[in-house]
Amino acid sequence: MDCQECLERLHPYLDRELTSKELDEVRVHLDDCGGCDSAFVLERVFLDRLRGSATSDVAPSGVRERLILRLRTDVRRRS
Ligand SMILES: [Zn+2]
Repeated sequence: MDCQECLERLHPYLDRELTSKELDEVRVHLDDCGGCDSAFVLERVFLDRLRGSATSDVAPSGVRERLILRLRTDVRRRS
């Protein structure tokens, strides 16, 4: 699996919508690849916040982009 394939599967991975073989492939790639692992952490935080919000199941894409940008800034500050 390459990075493109991995990133495309992050959401289904988090939602457990992949086959167990695909779950394993994503897990192995995340272990090997720091870039995809960072993206995975961001997606997981984003989904957690989304699920924690009572207002809406789906954030408008603009909100999502801003949230991801802010999370990336936070990660950079921490490291
Ligand atoms: Zn990767």
